Amino acid sequence: MNFRCLKCEGEDYIVKTTFMAEKTPGLRLELGTYYLKICSNCGYTEMYSAKILDKDEEPEPQHH
Ligand SMILES: [Zn+2]
Repeated sequence: MNFRCLKCEGEDYIVKTTFMAEKTPGLRLELGTYYLKICSNCGYTEMYSAKILDKDEEPEPQHH
C-alpha cells in the first residue's frame, strides 16, 4: 500500500487496529474495527473502517 502523509509527505507509518462502539439501525451496540495509519514522522493519523476495506476486496462495483 502506498502511503504519503498529507501533512509532511513522509512515507513511514505505523498501523494500529482499534475498536469503537457503533450504533446499528436497530439501536444495538456493535464493535466496529478500524485501522489507524499513523505517520511516524509527524503523527498525522488516518482512520479506515475495516468493514469498508473488507468490501474493497470484492470486484469493483459498477458505477452507473
Ligand atoms: Zn506526516
